[in-house]
Amino acid sequence: MTGPDASTLAHIRGRSAKIIATLGPGSAAPDTIYLLAKAGVDIFRLNFSHGSHEDHKQIFDRIREVERRFRRPLAILADLQGPKIRVGTFPEGKIRLSFHGEYVLTAEKHAESEHEIPVPHPEILNVLDVGDEILLNDGQLLLRVLELGERPKVRAELPGILSDKKGFTVRGKALPVGAMTDKDREDLAFAMQLGVDMVALSFVQTVADIETAKALMPHRVPLIAKLEKPAAITHLEAIVDAADAVMVARGDLGVEFPSEQVPIIQRRIIRAARRVGRPVIVATQMLESMIEHAAPTRAETSDVATAIYQGADGVMLSAETAVGRHPATAVAIMDRIIKATERADDFAASMQQFQGQDAARDEGIVDVVARSVHGLARQHGTKSIAMRTGSFQRLARFSRVRGPVPVLYGSINPDRLRQAQLLWGVHPIAFEVDNASDWAEYLAHQAGLDGSVAYARWAGEGNRFAWEIGANAYEMSED
Ligand code: ATP
Ligand code: MG
Ligand code: MG
Repeated sequence: MTGPDASTLAHIRGRSAKIIATLGPGSAAPDTIYLLAKAGVDIFRLNFSHGSHEDHKQIFDRIREVERRFRRPLAILADLQGPKIRVGTFPEGKIRLSFHGEYVLTAEKHAESEHEIPVPHPEILNVLDVGDEILLNDGQLLLRVLELGERPKVRAELPGILSDKKGFTVRGKALPVGAMTDKDREDLAFAMQLGVDMVALSFVQTVADIETAKALMPHRVPLIAKLEKPAAITHLEAIVDAADAVMVARGDLGVEFPSEQVPIIQRRIIRAARRVGRPVIVATQMLESMIEHAAPTRAETSDVATAIYQGADGVMLSAETAVGRHPATAVAIMDRIIKATERADDFAASMQQFQGQDAARDEGIVDVVARSVHGLARQHGTKSIAMRTGSFQRLARFSRVRGPVPVLYGSINPDRLRQAQLLWGVHPIAFEVDNASDWAEYLAHQAGLDGSVAYARWAGEGNRFAWEIGANAYEMSED
């Protein structure tokens, strides 16, 4: 195993948007986790759709072990499967669906032949109608129902490889289910006990789904609502408001909606989230061709850059890092695309533009403070803003400004530091002791941004409301 080097010792990365990477069989080895973190991962995602609790515990421990060798917090996200229908398993792990080939659906967990597709959910097979379209694997494969019966007959209209446990959606059929299954409840309890830093909830449809999950958390960590159902888009503002963060989960979104709607919905979600300062992650198929190839397509590069131009807090890799052949390269490429985009001439203007003209409508005192500190930084030409607060929500309001200088977030609490990885432009740095004075200079020094620094600290107490803001700048003038 390689030891720490300069790139792992630098406290802050040279970019504002964050990288989330899914771990899986292709990337769970300790050396690979280390390389992924070094290449740029800020948050590791454990997908509870796959793998056992033992697998997740082992990977969790490995990430924490890797984190000890870095000077940067690495966050761990537990993604709950939600009520997703998946196919069962195949004798060889997969089958090839040929164009216009005919297959039967069975209610079994495992297929007996290569003409069977196991769907271990009898209730779904019962609601099928002739002519229904079935989308598999985030919409990459399409079946049409030809005949009903105990073993409904289907025809493959979009052929390809179907492997174990891929998602199964009947287009246009709503299923009356809540966002949390019994498995999700068990997984959530397990993840909280492990000590994950954030939780993602799949197929959120209502604010009640979010409240249910929050009520099941013994301690609060940021809850990310995955937006992938039409109902979630109908109630977008209320859901964005109730969640701590949101994810544009384009895989299932593109199955539930025609795929040409996905970019439009992505923009709507990002705007809604940025307006109220909720972090927003863009996910699925970002560098999809890198599952196989060592370089992305131009279209994929452009897709990542677009999310960055829109001001997403994070971009996520799924199969690219979970099962892909080039997990660390995929992360390194994402890192390069983000950096290049953030350095583009029109990037700062794009950040402000996308905020929307009605941004001020939702502003409160914290936003006024956040804008003021960003203003101080600009006036005094400081290279960073130092910030301390015990509140993730307050920190999010500082990120919301999308200012040009990094926000250095200092805390002695490792959990808070890790949670801050969700936020655009926020760089968490541990205090070794709880520095009473000089804390802003300490953070600037640790970040390698010595010199002048603007700062903000929530200093309220009891019924006293107070923010302390200022700038320690060279040649400070009084006006
Ligand atoms: P979700 O809807 O939660 O995104 P998913 O099945 O699409 O679920 P991803 O995490 O997006 O899962 O990963 C994409 C693919 O990578 C999966 O379809 C699966 O084939 C594979 N994969 C991911 N994690 C694992 C794992 N732990 N074990 C086996 N395969 C995995
Ligand atoms: Mg997926
Ligand atoms: Mg999903």
